[in-house]
Amino acid sequence: MKKIDAHAHIGYFGSWCNVGITPDEMVKKMDQYEIEKTIICTIPNEETQKAVSQYPERLIGIPWVNPYEGQKAVDEVYHYVNECGFKGIKLHPLMQSFIANEEIVHPIAQAAEDLAIPLFIHSGHPPYSLPWSIAQLAEDFPKVKVVMVHMGHGHGVYIQAAIDMAKKFSNIYLETSGMPMHTKIKEAYEQVGSDRIMWGSDIPFHDYSVEIQRTMVSGLSEKQLEDVFYNNIKQLLSL
Ligand SMILES: [Zn+2]
Repeated sequence: MKKIDAHAHIGYFGSWCNVGITPDEMVKKMDQYEIEKTIICTIPNEETQKAVSQYPERLIGIPWVNPYEGQKAVDEVYHYVNECGFKGIKLHPLMQSFIANEEIVHPIAQAAEDLAIPLFIHSGHPPYSLPWSIAQLAEDFPKVKVVMVHMGHGHGVYIQAAIDMAKKFSNIYLETSGMPMHTKIKEAYEQVGSDRIMWGSDIPFHDYSVEIQRTMVSGLSEKQLEDVFYNNIKQLLSL
């Protein structure tokens, strides 16, 4: 089944993570698993840009910015979207220690609105990236499509909250990577909406084989799986 990976990283992540992948290794693995394109981000953004220009047909960049940098972060978003064809914005409240709906995030969300691009936000870790905080941001910026990356991640209560918040706010989208419960993928498809849940791998933090298998056994039909694996992210980013 053809796929587009809605969330992955290139580069090396040290500290406790100790994982990494090069663009060459990623594209080789994408070929192996029938993945047509992958949405990537890393720090620094120059590395994402290099990878995208090396594989323009396969890799799509989104700038990963730090809201504490204020106007510099907003300028970076405009630069990568307007000059380099990047298609969204990545925020990581846990890694950069801010709460998803804090005021410092608002200029970034405003840029997403003005540029009409989605905001991808890491979810699932207290106190910074809880689904309820992300939902408050989505409520404050109803025109911004907010992708809740990992749809609550490893904690059942947060996974349910991700689904509940997406049911409440129609501008919230869910992404599956690293979320352990296959059943919640089907629930989200049926209860949130067939066009608001998308598959991602979060490579190199996870492996394609595991991430694909979880969605494959979620109970969705082949036609529905095509939405999750391919159609929804394609439509969201106009690929
Ligand atoms: Zn990630």
